[in-house]
Amino acid sequence: MDSHRQCLHGELLLEDSTVPSGYLIHENGRILSISNQPPTDCPITESRYVGPGYIDIHVHGGDGADYMDGTVDAIRIANRAHARHGTTTIFPTTTTGTTLELSAMIESCLQLQSAWTASDGARIEGVHYYGPYFAEDKVGCHPVDGRRNPAREEYELFLSKGIIRIATCAAELEGAIEFYEAATAADCLVTCGHSNSTWQQMAKAFAAGMRHVDHFWCAMSSVPSLRAKYGTPMQASMEQFVLANAEMSTEVIADGCHLSAELLEFAYRMLGARRLCLVTDANRALDMPPGTYRFGPNETGSWFESDGRVGFVPGQGLASSVVGMDHMVRTMRRDTSASLTAVVRMASLTPAERTGISEETGSLAVGKRADLLLLDEQLNVTQTIIGGEHVDW
Ligand SMILES: [Zn+2]
Ligand SMILES: [Zn+2]
Repeated sequence: MDSHRQCLHGELLLEDSTVPSGYLIHENGRILSISNQPPTDCPITESRYVGPGYIDIHVHGGDGADYMDGTVDAIRIANRAHARHGTTTIFPTTTTGTTLELSAMIESCLQLQSAWTASDGARIEGVHYYGPYFAEDKVGCHPVDGRRNPAREEYELFLSKGIIRIATCAAELEGAIEFYEAATAADCLVTCGHSNSTWQQMAKAFAAGMRHVDHFWCAMSSVPSLRAKYGTPMQASMEQFVLANAEMSTEVIADGCHLSAELLEFAYRMLGARRLCLVTDANRALDMPPGTYRFGPNETGSWFESDGRVGFVPGQGLASSVVGMDHMVRTMRRDTSASLTAVVRMASLTPAERTGISEETGSLAVGKRADLLLLDEQLNVTQTIIGGEHVDW
């Protein structure tokens, strides 16, 4: 790492406050100092805002590549695309698929992670093992043939690789509790998603270590979905379980297409910035022209369309997002009462805390990794810095 020292001057977006005219110096990949006095011995770069790099815990691809394509090149292409949108730390996310497809994705992430440089884009902190353990009635846009119940020999092998940091399973599946226990023992953020589970099933999952729910209101149970399945008395769902339990966190796709402004505001008011993460859930159509694309592996993924605003399957529904974290931050700022620091926290420090990396990154604090963004007045990313290195794009 080169030892150059750089000073960034602008409104510094700290964890709970801002410094309107602050000077942040980074050196050797770390944040060295934060003050409101200009340094005398260091070149100064001006920006409207200086903020922490974003952390995306749920993301499938970008710029034509899906992580499930399973090659180092595909993963690098997607990570470079997300760096342009402000993501400095990324958790490539699996879809449903075969054991071989999952294995290729995980091995390629390991390879890229071990030899990472800033030209590879967002830094891989871990893999989000998301598919294939989804409920049959909540598979959503994922390839349906690639869905199955948790298979111990499969997940034990993958967890033993040491790169899986987030692990999802639908709580009602046979073998879910054993999966949650294994993922908890492997120090993962354990999450329930693509699930039609009841409060009671969630309570059992919670006891086994589950603490997070994927993309709130999307592919999850609701009082009406459980009434359709079990009749009356009506059952409490994943939604009530998350809202009622202070140890549970969740995430929203704030692209303006998945959830209305009122639902984003409701999520923020009910959960606050410490329990709510912004995620992109972006697929390979990010930064690509409108058209037809595969969700998941390039040979076996299911087809969806992008109109440039969102992914969808005609006649069925939405198929994840096609925009980056900068867009999510702008939407959340525009559509909710959350302050700018609270919005930025939901895209940086909160996902860092939930995945256990907040000592290392996630906010502007002396000693943390210099994962930094320069932002203009409209919160567009003008420069991304990862570990003190400027990312070219
Ligand atoms: Zn999903
Ligand atoms: Zn997803």
